[in-house]
Amino acid sequence: MLDLSYDAPAPKVIAGAQNDWELVIGLEVHAQVSSKAKLFSGASTEFGAEPNSNVAFVDAGMPGMLPVINEGCVALAVKTGLGLNAQINLVSAFDRKNYFYPDLPQGYQISQLYHPIVGEGEVLVEMGNGTARTVRIERIHLEQDAGKSIHDMDPNMSFVDLNRTGVALMEIVSRPDIRGPEEAAAYVLKLRQILRYLGTCDGNMQNGNLRADVNVSICKPGDYEKYQETQDFSHLGTRCEIKNMNSMRFIQMAIDVEARRQIALIEDGKEVVQETRLYDPDKNETRSMRSKEEAHDYRYFPDPDLLPLEIEQGWVDDIKASLPELPDQKKARFISDFGLSDYDASVLTAEVANATYFEKVAEGRDGKLAANWVINELFGRLKKEDHTIEDSPVSADQLGELIGLIKSGDISGKIAKEVFEIAYTTGRNPAEIVETEGMKQVTDTGAIEAAVDEIIAANPAQVEKAQANPKLVGWFVGQVMKATGGKANPAAVNQIVSAKLGL
Ligand code: ADP
Ligand code: MG
Repeated sequence: MLDLSYDAPAPKVIAGAQNDWELVIGLEVHAQVSSKAKLFSGASTEFGAEPNSNVAFVDAGMPGMLPVINEGCVALAVKTGLGLNAQINLVSAFDRKNYFYPDLPQGYQISQLYHPIVGEGEVLVEMGNGTARTVRIERIHLEQDAGKSIHDMDPNMSFVDLNRTGVALMEIVSRPDIRGPEEAAAYVLKLRQILRYLGTCDGNMQNGNLRADVNVSICKPGDYEKYQETQDFSHLGTRCEIKNMNSMRFIQMAIDVEARRQIALIEDGKEVVQETRLYDPDKNETRSMRSKEEAHDYRYFPDPDLLPLEIEQGWVDDIKASLPELPDQKKARFISDFGLSDYDASVLTAEVANATYFEKVAEGRDGKLAANWVINELFGRLKKEDHTIEDSPVSADQLGELIGLIKSGDISGKIAKEVFEIAYTTGRNPAEIVETEGMKQVTDTGAIEAAVDEIIAANPAQVEKAQANPKLVGWFVGQVMKATGGKANPAAVNQIVSAKLGL
């Protein structure tokens, strides 16, 4: 997938008091699988349900209850792996990660430490200006989410909501290939876009359905290249992990402030301690949460309640055959088929619903004109009212009809905006609006000539001026347009005025 027409973007460099420092970032993204049922129980995953109403006995950790793998979740994890060009492991296995979780009553999280279902893949992260970074994916594993402890409802008590307990998560682990805050945000955005195209995670960050643990370290210029050559982590600095970030803006702010904290420590002769930290947006600082546990602290061991997960190549091939066109391919096709700019193609393919709408408008029409109307007029108008393409009052067929009227010369671009506004607010069809409201462009040269004659006769001084300075012909064109209510064809007006003035 590596597109050789892209250059790698420069890494972010922060100047310390003594040295320049480069940033190294690796992300662990937790994406909630778009499944109606949990990973090992049939309980619903519905968001916002009454607390503790979506809890099966196995989710509540009742003795003797056994987990049963949800095949649908496995299929979605495989689909995600295929969408990220990753290796699919036909044999994977579940392990217990033992820990005291007040909101996971079984006392351990079922995860995949040793044998994840998805292996190495990659994501192309475009940074604009013809640069892009290929971020390597190390692995994707399936695991259970925990529930929610609620500490702010009562001064003396805490509450637990187990609705989220046992919901399927995909943990998507990147290599430390990300080199700055903007790249980290662009990576999460790209990942989210691919997951949404695939339909494997809705990407809703506000609800916590997509959240990232951000690992940050700093190194001196040149050291990262040594790491790349050898894959030897000792060339990199000690990392800290910032937990549970679910805002693009905060991800960037947290990385920046954490890198500066590490630089100050090192330049002060101190050491960075590997630990888990939390970002506080109010104070714009990261604070220590706990020192990083080692894997052996969790006493990982294969879950004896679950058999190793074996899937067949034929099943994987069927899923592969069902993959939709993904963002990179769609964007490349929009550029080559419709002659769009890189930027326009990116905007139109950001969401699959937008891309589908655009294609319907552009089919058999001028692609660039269609892109302009969809991006500038329609998106602009939708944004004003916080609407999405799904509830656009103007359908793709209607916008296509409007573009057809411009192309055929029936209306000018300027009148088209008025027609669009009427269509947007009333839902009427553009052709009918143009007809009923008498908005058709006047191309009848007789009518235009009459208007020009009238204006020339009424303005002898302007005629003299324009004849001395042909640039002033625009004044006459403007007058004619005004006289015809903007409906005259501007090119025809220009020609007739120039001819009549003898220019
Ligand atoms: P753990 O199992 O302790 O979480 P991993 O080796 O799985 O550790 O790494 C977790 C994440 O940390 C990965 O996304 C990886 O890319 C990132 N990472 C590892 N080393 C560094 C480093 N020196 N700087 C920044 N990120 C790093
Ligand atoms: Mg980890």
